[in-house]
Amino acid sequence: MKIKAAVISETGGDFNIEQLELCEPNADEVLVHIVSVGICHTDLGARDGYLPIPSPPSVFGHEGAGVVKKVGSRVTKVKPGDHVVLAWDYCGTCSSCKAGKVLYCKNFFLHNFHGARPDDTATLRKGDQIIHGSFFCQSSFADFALANERNTVKVRDDVPLEVLAPLGCGVMTGTGAVMNSLQAKPETSIAIFGTGAVGMSAILGAVICGCTTIIAVDVNADRLKMAKELGATHTVNAGKVNTVEAIREMTGGGVEYSLECVGNPKVLRQAVDVLARLGVCGLVGVVPPGTEVSFDMDFLMNGRTVKGVLGGDAVPDLFIPKMIDLYSQGRFPFDRLITFYPFDDINKAVEDMKKGLVIKPILRL
Ligand SMILES: [Zn+2]
Ligand SMILES: [Zn+2]
Repeated sequence: MKIKAAVISETGGDFNIEQLELCEPNADEVLVHIVSVGICHTDLGARDGYLPIPSPPSVFGHEGAGVVKKVGSRVTKVKPGDHVVLAWDYCGTCSSCKAGKVLYCKNFFLHNFHGARPDDTATLRKGDQIIHGSFFCQSSFADFALANERNTVKVRDDVPLEVLAPLGCGVMTGTGAVMNSLQAKPETSIAIFGTGAVGMSAILGAVICGCTTIIAVDVNADRLKMAKELGATHTVNAGKVNTVEAIREMTGGGVEYSLECVGNPKVLRQAVDVLARLGVCGLVGVVPPGTEVSFDMDFLMNGRTVKGVLGGDAVPDLFIPKMIDLYSQGRFPFDRLITFYPFDDINKAVEDMKKGLVIKPILRL
């Protein structure tokens, strides 16, 4: 079928809206009419060549939300008309998947970054030319996307679908890191480094967990103000004070949990240095492969843990509906992070995100 998609033709180039041809769904696939799609830093990393993915032309987009249009013959999870949020894909058969740790799938690359289906067949074409698609098994910067039944999450249809898009990656990553990975206990303290979409979502998660001290760290005063509105009890402007000293002082020696949402070795070092004994630091910020960091070994030895976290350690089929329940109860206002743009304004949305003018841009199809 003919679709409208935002195509990257050269590494680092602009998105161009073009008409492409999308395959019919295979037996285990779902054709989704995309209503909205969030823009995530991973899309820009892919565009700018920082991810190990095939060269352009490509269609990215991995925070799609929409309505099921058509399903393959073996699909039982959803039917046409269902509202869905698309998440990360996984193989379902490796030891990580079988243990319920689907975001640590051993075949993750093949199912998310391969530029085609895992069996190498392409889903997108322009005339005779193959366009790399299947990005996170969706390539949802388009009005229609092909997902697998696995990464298609059915959601309730009594909440506005267009706000749900970022639950499939950014929001799930931040909130899940606190709720699932750190499993922050009530009456504890947490320091969250970075107040982009992931860090803000982590603050919302910390509120739900009942953390009594929630410290937001950033260099952007406007973001810190918003962090307070979302539930941060303290803020630290890292551009103005010694972050580690400030947090140790606020907490009488250190926090029980910290979360690095920036993707910077110096920030990770700070996030570890603010831990109290037995404290746990979650690492969420993405860095290029090969990035190294140093720690004080003696300091770490006092029961402190550094833990890498992908996708908020979530099982998307279970966690995304729970986040939506919390949202509908008014306890999870992640929609405060969103700014909507028309699909045709994708390049402006990217620019505004890079300038820090918006937290989570969402394209309306
Ligand atoms: Zn797997
Ligand atoms: Zn993402």
